[in-house]
Amino acid sequence: MTTTTDRFHDIRDAVRDLCRQFPDEYFRKVDEQRAYPAEFVEALTQAGWLAALIPQEYGGSGLGLAEASVIMEEINRSGGNAGACHGQMYNMGTLLRHGSAAQKQAYLPKIARGELRLQSMAVTEPSTGTDTTKIKTLAVKKGDRYVVNGQKVWISRVQHSDLMILLARTTPLADVKKKSEGMSIFIVDLREAIGNGLAVRPIANMVNHETNELFFENLEIPAENLIGHEGHGFKYILDGLNAERTLIAAECIGDGRWFIDRATRYTKDRVVFGRPIAQNQGVQFPIAEAHIEVEAADLMRWKACELFDAQQPCGAQANMAKYLAAKASWEAANVCLQMHGGYGFASEYDIERKFRETRLYQVAPISTNLIFSFVAEHVLGLPKSF
Ligand SMILES: Cc1cc2nc3c(=O)[nH]c(=O)nc-3n(C[C@H](O)[C@H](O)[C@H](O)COP(=O)(O)OP(=O)(O)OC[C@H]3O[C@@H](n4cnc5c(N)ncnc54)[C@H](O)[C@@H]3O)c2cc1C
Repeated sequence: MTTTTDRFHDIRDAVRDLCRQFPDEYFRKVDEQRAYPAEFVEALTQAGWLAALIPQEYGGSGLGLAEASVIMEEINRSGGNAGACHGQMYNMGTLLRHGSAAQKQAYLPKIARGELRLQSMAVTEPSTGTDTTKIKTLAVKKGDRYVVNGQKVWISRVQHSDLMILLARTTPLADVKKKSEGMSIFIVDLREAIGNGLAVRPIANMVNHETNELFFENLEIPAENLIGHEGHGFKYILDGLNAERTLIAAECIGDGRWFIDRATRYTKDRVVFGRPIAQNQGVQFPIAEAHIEVEAADLMRWKACELFDAQQPCGAQANMAKYLAAKASWEAANVCLQMHGGYGFASEYDIERKFRETRLYQVAPISTNLIFSFVAEHVLGLPKSF
């Protein structure tokens, strides 16, 4: 029987080889300096890994979500953090599925070659949070341009991206029949926009994650940068979320395996009361439990990948995979920290860093309660609550 970790050997080995050039010390230093792992992301780009999902006709490798998820998993499994670059994997899917032939030809080959970075997607707003259809950022068409005013929050990797996908209202909420209508998505060239109607304010945060507040004041976007049809943007964004959730699930699986490895290794070596602490069942059982939960979550991750790659509906599986994997990695993180005693808190062990990093996935890109809500309403048919 093929176990899940046996799949995609070639990709795993190649990504692991690349990650070996960026050991714990590298990510520790980047974290301490609150810097961006630019050399790491550049190496991944040059090796073509971030173009995995771009079809071959546009210069990418045309792989499926399963393969892409292995790349993300192996980055986190090696002690790194794919959060610095995962946007590039799934943001281009929006362009691929809904962009015009001219847009795809203009951007995708350059993204595949590493000449353009599409790392950012701007959806969340400060006054509306998860209630996305209430967004207030407005894009008004004036001749051959859209003029954008509004605000976004928690928009990641803007300082390390050339392009950003923006969700804005093109028809105010009060003027649409259904709240999901009247929103549109645009491709924003950040190199032109910043300082010309777009201001970026970095948000210091618990993780070393480059994320920002964005202020739009009469930002002009060429009308040709509208992706797909005006007013259909919310549907386009939702289309891309299953890939995002599944890839994040894979990152959590990578984190979970990293924590379990570290916990196993340390507890076999650490001698207290004259024997390795791993000889105590009080130490073994929580590690075993965490391992079981990571492996179980991994099964749902593969289910989501298989359905996505077969172009079947996979919203339930993608959401459940994200929920299970984020929970399992967080529990593995807790166990790993606990089993290291005081040393778990020392930066040089990297556990406190990974602990902070994996905690994020309970909240972003979708919080756990919202996954429960999705499953309750759309899988179980329970009454709509909002
Ligand atoms: C580091 C980081 C990076 C991010 N990057 C991006 C990005 O690149 N682009 C982007 O657009 N966004 C990004 N986000 C935003 C992220 O997607 C949101 O923070 C997340 O979706 C939660 O929204 P919120 O923070 O407004 O919380 P809120 O919507 O205010 O929710 C707060 C809490 O209340 C709960 N809650 C709310 N409503 C309900 C309900 N009806 N029932 C039960 N519970 C409820 C939520 O589950 C949550 O736990 C990022 C966030 C972080 C922290």
